[in-house]
Amino acid sequence: MTYDPLIPPLGDVGAVMPITPRPPIVFIEGHGSWLRDRDGKDYLDFIQGWAVNTLGHCPPAVVAAVTEQAAKLINCAPSFFNEPMIRLATLIAGASGLDQVFFANSGAEANEGAIKLARKWGQKYRDGAYEIITLDHGFHGRTLATMSASGKSQWDGLFEPRVCGFPKAEINDIASVERVITGKTAAVMLEPIQGEAGVIVAESDFLKDLRALTRQRGILLILDEVQTGIGRTGKMFAFQHEDIRPDIMTLAKGLGGGVPIAALVAEQSVCCFDYGDQGGTFNGNPLVTAVGCAIMEEVARPGFLEGVAKSGAYLEKRLIALSEKHHGLGVRGKGLLLALDLGRDLGNEVVAEALRRGLLLNAPRPHLLRFMPALTVTGEEIDRMIGILDGILEAFPSY
Ligand SMILES: *Cc1c(COP(=O)(O)O)cnc(C)c1O
Repeated sequence: MTYDPLIPPLGDVGAVMPITPRPPIVFIEGHGSWLRDRDGKDYLDFIQGWAVNTLGHCPPAVVAAVTEQAAKLINCAPSFFNEPMIRLATLIAGASGLDQVFFANSGAEANEGAIKLARKWGQKYRDGAYEIITLDHGFHGRTLATMSASGKSQWDGLFEPRVCGFPKAEINDIASVERVITGKTAAVMLEPIQGEAGVIVAESDFLKDLRALTRQRGILLILDEVQTGIGRTGKMFAFQHEDIRPDIMTLAKGLGGGVPIAALVAEQSVCCFDYGDQGGTFNGNPLVTAVGCAIMEEVARPGFLEGVAKSGAYLEKRLIALSEKHHGLGVRGKGLLLALDLGRDLGNEVVAEALRRGLLLNAPRPHLLRFMPALTVTGEEIDRMIGILDGILEAFPSY
């Protein structure tokens, strides 16, 4: 994101560690698809905390869950059961067809847990196998192991030495996976849609072939549904578009509707942690698991997912028309996780101009815009976003 030199500088922000180029604005409140900064300017939010605010900003269901649970019990040690923890684990198991849930605080931590579980399983049941095949351009988080599991070439050479044991294959190329399976392989891990890479969809046949291949070779299939889970693609989980089920799945982003919670979900036969292998102080605390329950219940409400699919189809239709009008290279994605290929490296300029015009967009790649609005986004809000974006693209004369 580039700065607008015309906006006056903030006060001293020096105590906030600069890990990303933050624009000189400060958000103070949000409702639904709208955010307001401290100067009173409103922004239409098509980022939503990076596909996190499932129901938009400060939805009544989340506010109620936070306040009610905060008044009752915020935290007891993770070495005890609490009511929302049990309820949320049951909801996730029921919705996914998997059996057991370990709660964590971020997507990276859930994935780290999935890696540990697969390695433990390999040690116990597959002769010490520990390798986890992951995909080029994949993104699994920013801990050392999940960075190594990711396939981001921008990270090459960073924080060496890498964690070993993550041979790479190509998305939508089953032969590339087959080639790297050895006696050391414990699992294959991937995103059903590579979000950070630019909304690259794993094709239906590839996922089905991968499920068949992993079963045939007796290794695990791990789906990182951190971005695609909890209704984002129009199903509760993206794998439900196919006739498959992973052995392990991870969730985070949308699960908390804005509060930090993640989950490692697994088939009974894979759940082989011994006491002490896995844990975490804040994990499964009642405050965030109560919010997770509220989110799961809203998304599971009759008609909700159909609504997401409908909004997604409408957004896609409008984006395709925009792409055609402005000579873009089309639209990809599923449900309300979509990307517009601009066909030129205009992404950062468009994002900066959109910010000036009161619209939050994201460009995960220089030529690409990603759209991840609240699942409750309205047709009017989509129209409004398209109107602003159309105006911006008009303003690039050579586009
Ligand atoms: C965001 C993301 C992560 C990392 O989640 P954090 O909560 O940022 O640690 C992992 N995998 C995928 C697919 C993601 O989109």
